[in-house]
Amino acid sequence: MDRFLQGRTALVTGSTSGIGLAIARALATAGARVAINGLGSPEQIDAALASVREAGAEACHFGADLRRPEEIAALMAQVQDWGTLDVLVNCAGIQHAAPLAEQPISKWDDIIAINLSAAFHTMQQALPGMAERGYGRVVNIASVHGLVASKNKAPYVASKFGIVGLSKVAALEYAAAGSRDSGGVTVNCVCPGWVETPLIEPQVQAHRNGGSRDDGVRALLEEKQPSQRMSLPEDIAAMVVWLCRREAHNLTGAALPMDGAWTAQ
Ligand code: NAD
Repeated sequence: MDRFLQGRTALVTGSTSGIGLAIARALATAGARVAINGLGSPEQIDAALASVREAGAEACHFGADLRRPEEIAALMAQVQDWGTLDVLVNCAGIQHAAPLAEQPISKWDDIIAINLSAAFHTMQQALPGMAERGYGRVVNIASVHGLVASKNKAPYVASKFGIVGLSKVAALEYAAAGSRDSGGVTVNCVCPGWVETPLIEPQVQAHRNGGSRDDGVRALLEEKQPSQRMSLPEDIAAMVVWLCRREAHNLTGAALPMDGAWTAQ
């Protein structure tokens, strides 16, 4: 493996599980020291740390609850003490599927806080230093739901359209930072369709209709994703790693679908 991120430090929010954990592992495999963040039992956090370290780099867990701006401020200060933050991946996210009229207000508040506002807070702290140093990568894990809507996902879709817009503004403001040689500062969203992680399990179960888990997965895919196959977290992670390369310096302000042609329709 090409360890082109050797000497770089990355923070991946929501990396105790699913896509974030796969991204943390992939960045470590490419040589970066990785700050992981996310909720979980001590055992889950230890297992996540061990798996990132196994990928070949130093790793440390920073345990902020991203619903709380003061905890995000502390997280960013601790991470920037630990290393010079070169790569920021905002991946933490939650979902709650219900009709708009039945969405609990507390779910709206939590989803907007974790999926959208947290990225604003981390980017505000990270981007100025990246610009000074001439290299920085912000990759926000949005969703196909940052590009098109589905019913029963009002707060989630609102948060994901929001993060796509936020990323485009940041990309414009930092487009001229650095140089082609230093790699510049880029801000992008990755927009996955269905990915095999714990986040989608309630929806899989809701689509079983008395059948097996595979029936539930098939039903979800048939609704929207023409490839009829889910991505693996590692598939998303591979794109994030590529975006960190120097040669990706002019790929900025994009919302990149990885959705089996969902949004081609
Ligand atoms: P997951 O449930 O496996 O992981 C979510 C992570 O976010 C966990 O590490 C969790 O601890 C963390 N998190 C949740 N609340 C938090 C809080 N208050 N403070 C700090 N961390 C918190 O889910 P996943 O599928 O890996 O989702 C990761 C991202 O990918 C999310 O933003 C999600 O919207 C997005 N996404 C997922 C899919 C999919 O099909 N799984 C598709 C498109 C986009």
